[in-house]
Amino acid sequence: MLQKNSRINRIVPVIGFGTWALTGRACEEATESAIRIGYRHIDTAQIYGNEKEVGKAIKNAGVSRSDLFITTKIATDNLNAHRIKGSTMQSLRKLGVDYIDMLLIHWPVPQMDLEACIESMKLLKERGIVLHIGVSNFGPELFREAIGIGPVLNNQVKFSPYHHQMKNLDVAKENNKIITAYSPLEKGRIAGDTTLSEIGKRHHKSAAQVALRWLIQLGHVAVIPKAGHERHRIENFEIFDFELNNSEIKVIGELDKSKITI
Ligand code: NAP
Repeated sequence: MLQKNSRINRIVPVIGFGTWALTGRACEEATESAIRIGYRHIDTAQIYGNEKEVGKAIKNAGVSRSDLFITTKIATDNLNAHRIKGSTMQSLRKLGVDYIDMLLIHWPVPQMDLEACIESMKLLKERGIVLHIGVSNFGPELFREAIGIGPVLNNQVKFSPYHHQMKNLDVAKENNKIITAYSPLEKGRIAGDTTLSEIGKRHHKSAAQVALRWLIQLGHVAVIPKAGHERHRIENFEIFDFELNNSEIKVIGELDKSKITI
C-alpha cells in the first residue's frame, strides 16, 4: 500500500515538490511550507535559478537532511566532464548541502557525449557527492542506452493523464528503474477535467488528486507537482487515503492527447 513518502525502490519518495518558476522569497516560503506539510522530495535544477532559496528552505524547515531527497539537474551548457563536476559543486554550495540525492542530465542535446557525461556523474557518485544519477527528457531508446552505460536510476519526463509515457515506463519497469513525472497536472489544466472530476467525486477527491493518484498507482512513478498556493500543496499531498479501481484506471488511460513519445 502506498503511504505518504513511501519510497520507490526504497530510494525516491513517491511525491515530491516541484519548484520550477518559483524564485526568491516565494520559492523559499513555498518550499519550506511543502516540507512542513510533509513533502520530503524536492525538485530543482541549475537553470531554475532557485537552488539557493531551496537551500534556505531546507535549512529553515528543520527536517533532518537524511530524511530529505533533493534532486537537481545539470544545465545543458554544463554537459561536459569538466563542467559537470564544477557546476555540481556549485549546486552543492548553493543548496548548502554536502551531497545531492539525485543528479540528472536535464535535457539531451546533440553535442553531448552521453557516455562521457554518465562517466563523470558516476565519478561524483563514487565520491559520495551525489547518491544517485539519472536523466531527464530522454525518449525510451535513449533511456535504455543510458541504463546500458552506467547506474542511471531515473528518467524525469512530462507525464500526465493527457501525456502518457508508457514506453518509458516499460523501460523503467524492465530494468527496475524509476520515472519521475513532471508537469503531472499539465500546469493546472488537469484541474478542470470533467472525467477526472467525476471519478474524483466518488472518492471525495479533486481532479488533480485523481491525476496524481493515477500516476503513482502505475508503479515505478514518482510525481513532482508544483504549487505556489498552500491549498494546492496540501491538496496534492492528500493522495494516500484512496485507491482508484481498475475500471477508473482504464478510463484515465484513455485520456492521452499526446502523440509525443518523450
Ligand atoms: P504542474 O505541476 O503540472 O502544474 C503546476 C501548476 O498547477 C501551477 O500553476 C499550480 O498552481 C497548479 N496546481 C497545482 N496544484 C493544483 C491543484 N491541486 N489544483 C489546481 N491547480 C493546481 O507543472 P510544472 O510546474 O510544469 O511541473 C512540476 C515540476 O516538474 C516543476 O515545478 C519542475 O520541478 C519539474 N519540471 C521539470 C522539467 C524538466 O525538464 N525536467 C520540465 C518542467 C517541469 P499554483 O502554483 O498557483 O498553486
